[in-house]
Amino acid sequence: MISQNAIETLRKTEIGAQGLFIDGVQVEATGGASLPVTSPIDGRPFASIADGNAADIDRAVKSARKAFEKGSWSRAAPAFRKKVLTKFAELVEKHADELAVLGVRDNGTEIGMAYKAEPLSAAGTIRYYAEAIDKVYGEIAPTAENVLGLIHKEPLGVVGVIVPWNFPLMIGAWKIAPALAAGNCVVVKPPEIASLTLLRLAELASEAGLPAGVLNVVTGLGAVTGEALGLHMDVDAIAFTGSGPVGRRLLEYSARSNLKRVFLELGGKSPNIVFADAPDLKQAAVVSANGIFRNSGQVCVAGSRLLVQSAVYDRFMDELLQATMRLKVGDPLDLANDVGAVSSAEQLDKNLGFVARATEEGARLVTGGQRMLTETGGSYMTPTIFENVMQDMQLAREEVFGPVLGVMRFETEEEAVRLANSTVYGLASAVWTANLSTAHRMVRAINAGVVHVNTYGGADITVPLGGVKQSGFGRDKSLHALEKYLELKTAWIAL
Ligand code: NAD
Repeated sequence: MISQNAIETLRKTEIGAQGLFIDGVQVEATGGASLPVTSPIDGRPFASIADGNAADIDRAVKSARKAFEKGSWSRAAPAFRKKVLTKFAELVEKHADELAVLGVRDNGTEIGMAYKAEPLSAAGTIRYYAEAIDKVYGEIAPTAENVLGLIHKEPLGVVGVIVPWNFPLMIGAWKIAPALAAGNCVVVKPPEIASLTLLRLAELASEAGLPAGVLNVVTGLGAVTGEALGLHMDVDAIAFTGSGPVGRRLLEYSARSNLKRVFLELGGKSPNIVFADAPDLKQAAVVSANGIFRNSGQVCVAGSRLLVQSAVYDRFMDELLQATMRLKVGDPLDLANDVGAVSSAEQLDKNLGFVARATEEGARLVTGGQRMLTETGGSYMTPTIFENVMQDMQLAREEVFGPVLGVMRFETEEEAVRLANSTVYGLASAVWTANLSTAHRMVRAINAGVVHVNTYGGADITVPLGGVKQSGFGRDKSLHALEKYLELKTAWIAL
């Protein structure tokens, strides 16, 4: 783990003006425009990124296509790709302190969480796919004796990666690593408010020996660069994590351009269900508070709807309130704090809008609901709990992506299932119960990509992550994610 001394040195590092990363080098955006990078820690600008445009996306896609056609990566032996990616993972680990602090200055995630979830997780993901790629075989089909049916697995070509600001490195690596391992060339469009770590990641990839053009990064506004990537006629696939509205646009861009495949990991309104027989209510309350409030609730799988069985409602709420009050919110670069900053002033305003509407609609504010630490100039919000939340309220239906929890009561298992599934989303969920049968029934009954039992979050790279319903489709993580970046080709050979 990083030390406070190391953090204090790194927090003062000059970052300066950042270029785009195209064809293995930093370049200016066409036209030379840039965007300031403001830290949510104190509201001050501390760097700038190149404000890329459609011409820059085109440059990056051309560079990726040229590298793909050249074949020094796409047709290289998997053992070679494994060697380079393993070195890449080592370099990410070696630079973990630098990457973690840079990312926190950019997006405000508390360092304790960011250190593990960003550089260390990204390094682990890169290593996982590096190790996997020389174990992927083609197939021989069970045909009649007079033919040979072979199934080859080939890279798709140029893959566009678009990620959100909450965990750009971790989520970026979930897409970049399997895409590269499979032999594709990649163009990354980082989130405009947290681009710095992905730019640094590309430099480290280059240092590890990734040929020029195989990994490019084009910063800029999503509506400009993201749209250009989505509409580009020479991009074969887009791997996206972000909001539903942007996910819909990407499907439209695909339909309007070259029918590129689109993989969407979208938002959630995940139910966290506490049964009266939960093995340890206190522990469940602590984990549930972390499950919504860490990273100021800016976690796609956050347990933002808490359903508590009536028999233990008062006891559980008491434990939850205590666990919430113990969370220290403040400077995300102070190791003593549990919760850092909200990623931007705009996101904070949006969160406060949800609080106002929940109050208007009749939910009862148990704690929080306010901006805090205004004297810092940064964006901070108190962990917020509402109870008496009804199904038709905005807070029960829409994703806040902030530290705001809505609580409901239920009596029976059937009611819990009905409430849990009364959402357009289906990303994550949790069930707290000591009864094995209840747990397994709930795992089957909940419509979500992941059901946690007696825990919340923490699923590692070995298992897939993704949603059902309007939480999207396609899976990140695990060996299943590799399949997204591989094309099947049949060879039908008469013997
Ligand atoms: P967002 O959809 O606003 O932005 C995501 C990315 O899309 C950014 O890089 C942005 O620049 C880009 N973008 C914006 N407009 C675009 C356009 N017109 N065309 C193409 N790209 C465009 O989301 P956000 O605010 O960055 O992130 C929050 C959302 O992400 C939440 O809904 C959250 O649940 C979701 N999320 C999901 C997961 C998951 O694994 N399912 C993980 C993290 C976050």
